[in-house]
Amino acid sequence: MTDLASSTFPERHTWRSRLLNYLDEHATQIVTDLAGLVRMPSVSGSDTEVDIQHVLSDRMSTMDLDVDTWQISLEETLAEPDFPGVEVDRSEAWGVVGRVAGRGSGPSLMLNAHVDVVPPGDLRTWEGADPFSGRVTGDTVEGRGACDMKAGLVASLWAVRGLTELKVPLRGDLVLATVVGEEDGGLGTYALLRRGWRADACVIPEPTSLDIAPASAGALTFRITVPGAATHASRRLSGVSAIEKFIPIFSALRRLEKERNAIKHPLATRWELPIPIEIGKIAAGDWASNVPDTLNAEGRMGVAIGEDIPTARRALEEAVGAACQDDGWLRVHPATVEWWGGQFASGITEVDSSIISTVQRCHADVSRSPQTMWATPYGSDLRLMQGIGTVPTIHYGPGDACLAHGPRECVSIDELLTATRALALIAIDHCGLA
Ligand SMILES: [Zn+2]
Repeated sequence: MTDLASSTFPERHTWRSRLLNYLDEHATQIVTDLAGLVRMPSVSGSDTEVDIQHVLSDRMSTMDLDVDTWQISLEETLAEPDFPGVEVDRSEAWGVVGRVAGRGSGPSLMLNAHVDVVPPGDLRTWEGADPFSGRVTGDTVEGRGACDMKAGLVASLWAVRGLTELKVPLRGDLVLATVVGEEDGGLGTYALLRRGWRADACVIPEPTSLDIAPASAGALTFRITVPGAATHASRRLSGVSAIEKFIPIFSALRRLEKERNAIKHPLATRWELPIPIEIGKIAAGDWASNVPDTLNAEGRMGVAIGEDIPTARRALEEAVGAACQDDGWLRVHPATVEWWGGQFASGITEVDSSIISTVQRCHADVSRSPQTMWATPYGSDLRLMQGIGTVPTIHYGPGDACLAHGPRECVSIDELLTATRALALIAIDHCGLA
């Protein structure tokens, strides 16, 4: 809830101007800060994912935040019945939450940014560039994670830093959470909710090109195992190729995808395929001159906004089951479906939630570019904050999500600085002034 009445208009106006001036004066440092954090290759599950949390914890301490830094108990957390899953091994994981205590009883705001990034992929696609260069060229900062989402992380850090340096008297608490494991399921945000952290609203600065995304589709990772019968390839007719038997299953998945995308949620109409199903990895056989006796296909299924996970899973299992029924071999030796790794539910924050109008207003105060509203086609921590935490949550952040996870990832400096300014104003407007 925004309560602008608690401070007189000139006072609020003065704080906003001072804050924007402070951020303008520090624009170069903000860009340099992003470049430095991109140089930390904090790939999900890596040692650097641990290191960066300690760096950020120290930063928050020097910013005079009340900092809660804790080692996440992986054994206990992963054993929780509603734990959303992980896809990489970790020996260690840390949670970091910094709080600027409000000076009154105003509404609290959480800025939640993930620190982990996906691996750089095939290095040849970076055309000779270091994937973690943090190179600043013209209007961009380059490198894995620049867009998804270290720009959003840096925008949040500097918005909070501006507010604390100037000692802006917020009424409600402002909370900055940096989380691990977003890319492989949501470990960090799940752990902070489990630790009891909540707020009256949350902004996740994922790359939205500064649009507002109050909803996200879900994503379920699955594995299909297709049996065959091995024999020497020279006698292939006496064996059964698991690769050949996978083909009708793959076709069934493409048909299912088409059916499931025929009707789109109103917030998802901008996407040609809001809830795709894709196979990302296949392994079959172990010898070139054999008929392969097993095929493992791993993929990712989109979950529609408003659809629950069991319903989505059932649709895929039934499609695979029906494809098996249509094949003489598979009818007797059916393919199996397992759900493993990240299991992202979809999530949505009510369109009349006050955080949405606050973000719209503050964005308009610092940018002339029009802002649209849509749902992200990817899963994110929104569904944990909103679903488990019941915290109204939206995405608003710098960077074009098309560049995330791809070669030559980069982010616009102009968007980085605009998001920083907007997030600072959002904190004032949402938390109020004492
Ligand atoms: Zn992200």
